[in-house]
Amino acid sequence: TPGPEFFPAPDRARTAQALAGEFRTAYGTDPEGVWSAPGRVNLIGEHVDYTGGLCLPLALPHRTFVALRPRTDGLVRVRSLQEGSGEVQVPLAEVGAGSPAGWAAYVAGVPWALLQNGFEGLALTGGFDALVDGHVPYGSGLSSSAALECAVAVALGELVDLPLDDTGRAGLASACQLAENVVAGANTGGMDQAASLRCRQGGAILLDTDDDSVTQVALDLAGAGLALLVVDTRAAHSHAGGEYGARRADVERAADLLGVANLRAVDPAGLDAALARLGAEPDGEVLVRRVRHAVTEIDRVRRTAELLRAGRTDEVGPLLDASHDSLREDYEVSCTELDLTVDTARAHGALGARMTGGGFGGSAIALVAAGRVEEAAAAVAAAFAGRGLRAPRFLSALPAEGAARDL
Ligand code: ADP
Ligand code: MG
Repeated sequence: TPGPEFFPAPDRARTAQALAGEFRTAYGTDPEGVWSAPGRVNLIGEHVDYTGGLCLPLALPHRTFVALRPRTDGLVRVRSLQEGSGEVQVPLAEVGAGSPAGWAAYVAGVPWALLQNGFEGLALTGGFDALVDGHVPYGSGLSSSAALECAVAVALGELVDLPLDDTGRAGLASACQLAENVVAGANTGGMDQAASLRCRQGGAILLDTDDDSVTQVALDLAGAGLALLVVDTRAAHSHAGGEYGARRADVERAADLLGVANLRAVDPAGLDAALARLGAEPDGEVLVRRVRHAVTEIDRVRRTAELLRAGRTDEVGPLLDASHDSLREDYEVSCTELDLTVDTARAHGALGARMTGGGFGGSAIALVAAGRVEEAAAAVAAAFAGRGLRAPRFLSALPAEGAARDL
């Protein structure tokens, strides 16, 4: 049987050089520069972003690159090495809700959103030529969409002389979210763009979705002899969208019944009392489990961040395990492929493992000793084969740098 298939992380310098060459072939001139932005994975804090909770994403070493050259005539021309369909051309004046359709929305939507948000400069109104090369797998829950937007945003931000400190990056992140929500038409929160733009090498960000604040948290996996194994289960169950809406409705109803703005306001010390109140409702049994997940999950994020701050990286495994168990039992968003991944990784040396992202497919993560990544991946691949499931794919990751210039 073939070994597990790993998605390699790109060599940044070499990938940027090669892309500059391809840009020259495509457009007949050198690009102004090459920029890249990472995909992301959430270490912990799942399904709490729509109830004021905390999450702890990190940037993957898997990045999307964009070679770009500004124009002055208001036209955006863009190609992607991942999209064989050729060049997309759109005048900036025609960019807006749902336009352009398809993948180019994630590119052309960015200058549109920056202008909407009050940024100024010829690089935003003049258009550009761009060539994209993505090394974040599509649709695995690792946010290839944000990687693409954020690579474009950091390029344009630099061309309009925006300071690329954390405040500048926060402004770019909200524009990228606006582009994704309005131009691409995907109703998502802001975690992906915040992680892709604001993470630093060797760290995660603690994102507070109640006030949108971000705190840097060191995550020295390499120093602890660890790595993160990301497993793309390649499962995508069709009921995911409906279930997501139902969970949101559950937590909103529970917050109403408890008389709070969101479940972040429920103190873990008062959880039992809150659950007793909800249990008395006609459909209380389900609400009790949903609220128990949200409140304990937010608390687990806090405890994870505390352990990381104390340098006790190797102690976070049980919190990852508890997160998965809560998502499976109380929140009911896991599935066979995610459970099999987590159980198998735990049985093969993982310190902790959990589903990550919305659930019902997508990816799982396992915290593994650096020397045992291959072994854990092989065990997961064998378990999938044994059940007749489609072969999963793997990424090995250490926390990488946010969006930046490469060339
Ligand atoms: P995810 O963000 O989880 O990977 P999404 O559905 O949100 O999944 O975004 C994937 C979409 O983003 C792709 O279908 C494509 O339209 C666009 N995209 C991502 N990377 C690239 C790329 N390298 N080139 C062109 N389009 C891309
Ligand atoms: Mg996405």
